[in-house]
Amino acid sequence: MSCRATTKAGRPCARPAMGGTELCHAHRGVAVGRPSKLTDELERRLCDALRAGNHLEVAARYAGVSRSTLHRWLAVRPEHVVELA
Ligand SMILES: [Zn+2]
Repeated sequence: MSCRATTKAGRPCARPAMGGTELCHAHRGVAVGRPSKLTDELERRLCDALRAGNHLEVAARYAGVSRSTLHRWLAVRPEHVVELA
């Protein structure tokens, strides 16, 4: 079962819903929006690192954030997931 929420871009959320809910981890009560820590500069660094073929862990380190933070950003900025998949 997939998440029933809609992303900020207006597309249906493609992430799987968490057990017992109709929403994915990103849409469960977590504020959806641009995290304040995700600056344009950080975003550019992350995109550069990911486009260069680095794994998420490497890209996160390159941008100076934790992997969980990076995952949270990707969850609220799904266009990156699409772009980098
Ligand atoms: Zn979702």
